[in-house]
Amino acid sequence: MGDEALARAEEAELARRRDGELEAQDIVSPVADGDERAIEGALRPKRLDDFVGQARVREQLSLLLRGALRRGRPPDHVLMSGPPGLGKTTIAMIIAAELGAPLRITSGPAIERSGDLAAVLSTLQEGEVVFIDEIHRLARPAEEMLYLAMEDFRVDIVVGKGPGATAIPLDIAPFTLVGATTRAGLLPAPLRDRFGFTAHLDFYTPEELGVIVRRSAGLLGVHIDDGGVEELGLRSRGTPRIANRLLRRVRDFAEVKTDGVVTREVTRTALELYEVDELGLDRLDLAVLSALVRRFGGGPVGLSTLAIAAGEEAETVEVVAEPFLVRLGLLARTPRGRVATRAGWEHLGLTPPPATDAPTLFD
Ligand code: ADP
Repeated sequence: MGDEALARAEEAELARRRDGELEAQDIVSPVADGDERAIEGALRPKRLDDFVGQARVREQLSLLLRGALRRGRPPDHVLMSGPPGLGKTTIAMIIAAELGAPLRITSGPAIERSGDLAAVLSTLQEGEVVFIDEIHRLARPAEEMLYLAMEDFRVDIVVGKGPGATAIPLDIAPFTLVGATTRAGLLPAPLRDRFGFTAHLDFYTPEELGVIVRRSAGLLGVHIDDGGVEELGLRSRGTPRIANRLLRRVRDFAEVKTDGVVTREVTRTALELYEVDELGLDRLDLAVLSALVRRFGGGPVGLSTLAIAAGEEAETVEVVAEPFLVRLGLLARTPRGRVATRAGWEHLGLTPPPATDAPTLFD
């Protein structure tokens, strides 16, 4: 591409961004869109040994799977919680691969009626792994059907309606349910209790993300040096999905603007364009932090009020922005509401009022 054509392409992209067609948020969102899933498929580690980070979860899972293989029986049901993009789907796939079992993937919102779930469960092969993403969004009747299936490998198929309806019990093949949720607190206790193994995935360290970036760069044929790896590790919001996505965006930038090598400098310049700051905060994170500090004097303020001020849905603020801000120690949850910490004020270049930080003790 010639310089002029490139300048035009960039101008077009900038215009789309200005018009709101190409949101910075799309680039740093931890949630994958349709096209991205294909690329993600290629980057997913396939075995437990290739899975980077989450050492404790990996170790526990390895024991669970080895025990099951030795006994020749499906392992306990597995529940994974944690913010989006941290590897829940990847682990479900790894569990199936390690067991040499087929995998069925569905999600809470996709199962609208209990009949949808019955259709999945009644056609399972022995030992199959069933992955239900966003399991906290299952409708109540499906959830109740799942209790029986998880415990007794049985479903009750209801025939007819009203007083004449009868439940026909149907045995199903023993299976392993892998549930994933971004909001473990919303799971009803009877469902939570039926998982024999629960794991919480936490944000990754910059070093772990560096390992992931290096591996993905190898698979995608991206030229990246140590500085580039380190910088991307630092700025990827503790999230492998974002690390992989930023790597691709920075690669585009490097190919178009420089000799194609992703260096620290190239990464910094590119991420400025994508509105990712030096801590990896994106526009949503900064909108939340800024509203908290500038509109509410650092809080405390309730979640829904804060979300309105930041122009976002309360759930997005709670599931996506807050966990990372808390992790970085910029925001704290207290019994009276959300507060900005001293570091939160300082990150925005502001001086906190003298009493700042005392309430974070309640976090
Ligand atoms: P979730 O289901 O929690 O939203 P995914 O399992 O879909 O997240 O992971 C998103 C992407 O991040 C995947 O494409 C995968 O390649 C990558 N990824 C996640 N966890 C790891 C990891 N521990 N090591 C390497 N890559 C990972």
